Amino acid sequence: MFSFDNSYGRLPDRFYTKMAPTPVAKPDWIALNEELAREMGLDVEAMRAAPEVFAGNAVPEGADPLAQLYAGHQFGGWSPQLGDGRAILLGEHVSEGRRWDVQLKGSGPTPYSRMGDGRAALGPVMREYLVSEAMHALGVPTTRALAAVTTGETVLRQEGPLPGGVLTRVASSHIRVGTFQVFAARDDVEGLRILLDHAIARHAPGAEWPMGLLRHVMRAQADLVARWMGLGFIHGVMNTDNMTISGETIDYGPCAFMEAYHPDTVYSSIDQFGRYAWKAQPDIALWNLAQLATALLPLMGEREAAVAEATEVLEGFRDLYAEAWSRVMTAKIGTDDMALAMELLAIMAEDQGDFTNTFRALTVAPDTARDQVTSRERLDDWIARWQAKGPDVEAMRRANPAVIPRNHRVEEAISAAYRDDLAPFHALRAVLADPWEETEANAAYRRPAAPDEAVTRTFCGT
Ligand code: AMP
Ligand code: MG
Repeated sequence: MFSFDNSYGRLPDRFYTKMAPTPVAKPDWIALNEELAREMGLDVEAMRAAPEVFAGNAVPEGADPLAQLYAGHQFGGWSPQLGDGRAILLGEHVSEGRRWDVQLKGSGPTPYSRMGDGRAALGPVMREYLVSEAMHALGVPTTRALAAVTTGETVLRQEGPLPGGVLTRVASSHIRVGTFQVFAARDDVEGLRILLDHAIARHAPGAEWPMGLLRHVMRAQADLVARWMGLGFIHGVMNTDNMTISGETIDYGPCAFMEAYHPDTVYSSIDQFGRYAWKAQPDIALWNLAQLATALLPLMGEREAAVAEATEVLEGFRDLYAEAWSRVMTAKIGTDDMALAMELLAIMAEDQGDFTNTFRALTVAPDTARDQVTSRERLDDWIARWQAKGPDVEAMRRANPAVIPRNHRVEEAISAAYRDDLAPFHALRAVLADPWEETEANAAYRRPAAPDEAVTRTFCGT
């Protein structure tokens, strides 16, 4: 089914634990991502006939299943050993010169499961499927969802017993900042060296050794986080184990798209102090990159000079981010006047403008933008000055989506699935695949949550 070439599995055995997924009672389809399957050169019919592969009940030919080791800072606190506690990397599928990690998530316990059961509830599987695919359609680098299945088993969560699911996640790799950290923390300089070679070969071929990798990740993350910010996306759990070297968004646990704009917005129930609030994300990205730099220090020779060099490289992040953010906002308002852009955000923050709909209204019918906020005069004044700049409204339509995965819609799809009704999930999936046009089909999905529908808290999906 796949054309596997498992380069990670050829790394030394302290990088992972080789083991097969744990079979489930009764695999059944929720969704197969045919568009992605075709992009990967896979046989959709063969996949469709084999849900057991995507549940972990049958290991496809050529796979070299393993759970990856990593560590990480979670909410700023150091966790010396994390790793795939509920995921198994089946292998790396190669097609037309591209390489994809194919990973099952929710596939049973591993040596890294700690207190967890190694399983995933159906809700978080569906959330990751919907939101990661929406991010892709919105032009944001991300891990992808190739398949989702039910297990016929129940998992016990805070809410009680829930149906289980397995997600097939595809990524250009699953190497994280935390993968470097685990070897650094163990003083395993040889392991670090091997990982760095592997990561450079995969993600930054030809990059200078070792700082070229840091520079590469800095650029990719500056671009990524600026894109998140431009969509009102709040990742919610930017721990160092949830930051990829590839620059792809990973881990759709407590993530959420902001509705009424405010820079301090937080959704995650476990983020008590707003560490991962919308506005904090660029600073947290830099904090995480500093942890990557720290992990690379043992490869850089004499300590003091290494620290000085790494610090200098990291200082470049401010400019990288400012450039990326300015690219994003220039596209959003169709003119490169950043002061004007910031003024708009300030008005929206004060007047509760829906993040998505205020920008979109400007691109479709500026006169209606004022309906998005509580104080029309201030926005009217802004619109007049903005129009005087001659913004390219046509181009703005590709930077301001009509539809995003609104939290209440995602929750609605999940709760319907818990009642055995997958229709809302499939309807939402179809709508999110084409976010750049107003259509009849997506009209109801463009509306912000009514007060009684609003989701104000999200939970770490496991
Ligand atoms: P996350 O919050 O998804 O980034 O996960 C943090 C760590 O907890 C990772 O090492 C996961 O593999 C592990 N983990 C999360 N949920 C489970 C679970 N249900 N069973 C085992 N390990 C888990
Ligand atoms: Mg994670």
